[in-house]
Amino acid sequence: MALPVEEWQLCAARRWAALEPALRERLEVASLHDTVHLGCGLLRPEVEAAVLRRLCRRAHTGKEPAAACFYREEGNRLFGRRHYGAAVRLYSQAASHEVPGSPDLAICFANRSAALFHLGCFEVCLEDIARAESHGYPDRLLPKVLLRKVECLLCLGRLQDAGGTLSVVENKIAVDGNMASSTHQTLLKKLNQLKDQIHGRESCPEPAREAYDDTQRKSEVWEENASISGASSSLSLNFDRERGRHLVASQDILPGQRLLKEEAFVSVLCPGENFHLQDSSETAWDTQVTNANLYCHCCLRQLLASVPCRGCSYAKYCSQNCADLAWEQYHRTECSLGALLLTLGVFCHVALRTVLLAGFAEVSRLVEWSHDGDKDLQNPETRCRILVEAPDTRTGSRGIPGCDDDGQYQSSYQAVFNLLPHTEKHSPEHKFLCLLSVVAICKQLQEAGLEAAVLNQRSSEKGSKPNTCEQTLGELSPGLKTLAEAMLRHVLQLQCNAQAITVMQESGSGDGAVVNKKPVRLATAFFPVLSLLNHSCCPNTSVSFSGTAATVRASQSIPSGQEIFHCYGPHQCRMRVAKRQQLLSQYFFECRCQACLDELKADVESVVSTRNSFCCPSCQAPMQVGEDTLCCSEEACATSVSRESLARRLGALQQQINAALELLRGRKADQAIKMLLKCQLDARNFLSPEHLLMGEMEDHLAQVYATLGKWQEAARHLEKSIKIVEMHHGPSSVEIGHELFKLAQVLFNGFAVSEALSTIQRAEEILAVHCGPQSAQIQELQEMKSCLSDLPRSILQRI
Ligand SMILES: [Zn+2]
Ligand SMILES: [Zn+2]
Ligand SMILES: [Zn+2]
Ligand SMILES: [Zn+2]
Repeated sequence: MALPVEEWQLCAARRWAALEPALRERLEVASLHDTVHLGCGLLRPEVEAAVLRRLCRRAHTGKEPAAACFYREEGNRLFGRRHYGAAVRLYSQAASHEVPGSPDLAICFANRSAALFHLGCFEVCLEDIARAESHGYPDRLLPKVLLRKVECLLCLGRLQDAGGTLSVVENKIAVDGNMASSTHQTLLKKLNQLKDQIHGRESCPEPAREAYDDTQRKSEVWEENASISGASSSLSLNFDRERGRHLVASQDILPGQRLLKEEAFVSVLCPGENFHLQDSSETAWDTQVTNANLYCHCCLRQLLASVPCRGCSYAKYCSQNCADLAWEQYHRTECSLGALLLTLGVFCHVALRTVLLAGFAEVSRLVEWSHDGDKDLQNPETRCRILVEAPDTRTGSRGIPGCDDDGQYQSSYQAVFNLLPHTEKHSPEHKFLCLLSVVAICKQLQEAGLEAAVLNQRSSEKGSKPNTCEQTLGELSPGLKTLAEAMLRHVLQLQCNAQAITVMQESGSGDGAVVNKKPVRLATAFFPVLSLLNHSCCPNTSVSFSGTAATVRASQSIPSGQEIFHCYGPHQCRMRVAKRQQLLSQYFFECRCQACLDELKADVESVVSTRNSFCCPSCQAPMQVGEDTLCCSEEACATSVSRESLARRLGALQQQINAALELLRGRKADQAIKMLLKCQLDARNFLSPEHLLMGEMEDHLAQVYATLGKWQEAARHLEKSIKIVEMHHGPSSVEIGHELFKLAQVLFNGFAVSEALSTIQRAEEILAVHCGPQSAQIQELQEMKSCLSDLPRSILQRI
């Protein structure tokens, strides 16, 4: 997903293999500048460009009336069956295919408002009603929608507004003579009911509206670093040849202390693993829920009732504000390129958005600066070396790459530009693929007539024809070449510097009282300050995200002088050292963190391998790992099993577990329990009791019992799962925090007051360290706590 679709990768590889050897050699060693100049003519219109055009047809990003019809009818169907949540999503899909200002779009919004009303989302329902009105909702249908508005306002306690709207409806109904009399009667009846309600309410005092005050949330004590924006003053930016730029604790740091808070310089929503590119021969419209329709394409907040882009069916926003902001900043350019960007992958998309956000003036200033005079000084790698060898002679202490002239490091385009592209370490084939891809984007900018706008050319030139006509076919203008060079740099940088924005997404059965959440990759982003942190497989920090902002906290005490690390992905708890090292090779470094050093010494076994091990099928003693076979550690037993057959058995078990989860989704809880218990029996015969899968099965059982309201059983299974998670991730890990959160919910629902309170306490302590005192989970825990402490009193009162 980060990289282009496979067919395009193959096409680029064929082109590369067929190039003149001399040209290939030149490209292999060329600078970014020369690469673009040598390569921008290599995308042949009738070959590679044609392949891309064909591939782009699989990504449906345009507005299609047939799709709008289909989704609206599906929405109506589900609305009729009272699946209001699903109906909202389908109406949103329908709306994304309607043309702005059309009555059909207005009808979509009105239908969606009805579903939202049933879900009790009154504020959002009002927004949709306003949208319906502004897009020209048919006048004759308006009274019904306005009565819904009155009901919403009543539910929200806004009596005056409700009264005002009611009299508008009254007039409308009175004036509108041609309304069918039965409709007329129904409306009048409803109207009189609502009138009575308003009068009834007016006689009693208006309930105090719940004060939603963010102000009351105490903001964390936070002293910002004088020279690194978004960083705590307890850090300092250091520099040496081995570690490059890195952050070090300049004083003792406590667990949970906030170290960084940074807004992404740029982020692009990943379409998600459910997102499929379909051949146009497949006519069925996709009703799969993907990231693309779950989250705002601008601020990444979860969507309820999305606002569609005016131009495409792909981009969706949480509000008109986000839609306008995105349009202003980048989407006016990206909108017509949607299919191409989905085909070329998220990295190319991030690269384009980066240059659009920076603006052409800044892009061209930095690109030129990178060519200028003293080449050595401009190359970040060389500059590091100079700094280390002779710190004061050439650049001074202010010359750390990415810092501005005052020695300030901030989340700016300059900082992004200075992230290491490792140009010479990428394979030539990969560089060529990236080159052809960015050239394809530039060509499309040209063809779509967007060149002048992107290159910020003066308005005096706007009126004149785009100067693309003057260029010979296949040539890029100097401006677009500069843009291509910057984009190529960014695509290469992303391989080492892309930061995934993840969220905990709800999974499993939707309506269970216990919410199961798993981390999901939501977007890919550049965080230039966060990028200063080096990797460790046993990091001393935790990263959490809110919208497009990242927060890094100390996950343990960090003594002054120690380096601050974060984990790029491969964590010692989840992977063995060999696998970690292989994954980390994409970042072009060999990890030398403590965990890797310890494990690489042959005498230390990986935590993963000892815990996720097999046991003897005959006597359940631990198995000793050999080349292709595993042997029982009990000499008397002498059982041996091939590694392959164990792997097969593990795969079969996993499938059974999935089948059980499918049963749970189908609300067949009893059958799901039976199947999970059978899986457990089977697993005990060949998995060690500490195996993570053992914990997962306990977790699933807890979830099923919770949906049945059997809280005690649920709690018992969760406790077993927690023990195993603790062995793998440690007692104060964020994973344990999430498990304790689930246990707290179960105990809360089961009125196990004292156990619930102590679990809430533990969960709060751990989650505050990793996610901060203001995270949603902490808020929820605190609500549970206050609810429980009020409980005895209210029960006593009733007695
Ligand atoms: Zn938004
Ligand atoms: Zn669009
Ligand atoms: Zn490591
Ligand atoms: Zn045995």
